[in-house]
Amino acid sequence: MIPSILPTYNRAPLSFVSGTGSWLTTDDGRRFLDFGAGIAVNSLGHAHPALVEALTEQAAQLWHTSNLYHIPAQQTLADQLVDLTFADTVFFTNSGTEACELAIKMARKYFYDKGHPEQVEIITFDGAFHGRSSAGIAAAGSEKMIKGFGPVLPGFVQVPFGQHDPLHAAVTDKTAAVLIEPIQGEGGIRRVPDHCLKGLRDFCDSHGILLILDEVQCGVGRSGKLFAYEWSGIEPDIMMVAKGIGGGFPIGAVLATKDAANGMTAGTHGSTYGGNPLGCAVGSTVLNHVSDPEFLSDVNRKSGLLHQGLGGLIAEFPDIFDEIIGLGLMVGLRCKVNNMDVVKAGYDAEILTVPAAENVVRLLPALNIADEDIKVAVDRLRKAATSLQSDV
Ligand SMILES: *Cc1c(COP(=O)(O)O)cnc(C)c1O
Repeated sequence: MIPSILPTYNRAPLSFVSGTGSWLTTDDGRRFLDFGAGIAVNSLGHAHPALVEALTEQAAQLWHTSNLYHIPAQQTLADQLVDLTFADTVFFTNSGTEACELAIKMARKYFYDKGHPEQVEIITFDGAFHGRSSAGIAAAGSEKMIKGFGPVLPGFVQVPFGQHDPLHAAVTDKTAAVLIEPIQGEGGIRRVPDHCLKGLRDFCDSHGILLILDEVQCGVGRSGKLFAYEWSGIEPDIMMVAKGIGGGFPIGAVLATKDAANGMTAGTHGSTYGGNPLGCAVGSTVLNHVSDPEFLSDVNRKSGLLHQGLGGLIAEFPDIFDEIIGLGLMVGLRCKVNNMDVVKAGYDAEILTVPAAENVVRLLPALNIADEDIKVAVDRLRKAATSLQSDV
């Protein structure tokens, strides 16, 4: 018998009924400290008063009209993003996957319009995650995602993460773009070092191809800058955003330069819900908070506190934890025991974390987490580690 919900998820035996700030309450009244934030989504925690107000105010006014008409809230959010980033123009989607779809279409259209319809190939990296659509899984290229789902969409070339020679060898006269996450999320909080991102920018420029950054997970303040590319000083041609920008409301975006977006004229792309007033009202409010330089410097300060606490845990439990990786509040704890055991021991200690590849446990708290809650997190992770210690 099949459950009434298609059983594609391996769910933890937990269900939450309410949340405030960094805390979630289960249906049986237990309080969990949320260090997953719905996979880097609840950037301002749960039930942030400004977000509740933005959503309810918009909900009382107007929910949906469609992109047949101008949408004031969409204009506001687009202008904010253009002001705050490299981008000249923005298209709104409902998810990261949809943003990925448009980024790929845009890169191909760019070369088509330049008279190079053969330049369609997108170079991607192993460990990448770009969503679960046909293009998204082809871009990621992992066996686990593509097996059984028919012909893999052509036009993607995977190269190993962090190696120069295979990347150089992968460029041909069919290449359109390089697509990369500045910090891989699902791939295990693997960061592209600043000098490599600079090198990648030069590499794309020298071959006349586009650089597409997937900041769906690492963007919107998560890395301690508004967008992770800012750490390196380079700018992409196209960038995908989602997760954190909606603070829990489903919204995504593709940001692009005027040049890269040149081919995307009326009728070339669309979405019924993309840029819907509800999502844009919430997105604007998230961005107003997160783009404040003081807010971002606080993210970095909190990151320091978390690193300090975790450093202590590594010293206390050298058989369980290996190292801390990541940037800002996109933190990975590489484990020596199975990472899923650490996540599960966390459930018993009432702290939520998220597993990733490379035996990493992701710690992705709300960006406005209270200092006190960082201490509680370290205590609860200590409790989790202690429970595992007896098994090692
Ligand atoms: C989550 C994620 C996506 C897919 O986003 P959805 O909103 O789940 O469609 C794409 N890229 C990266 C880097 C992600 O972390």
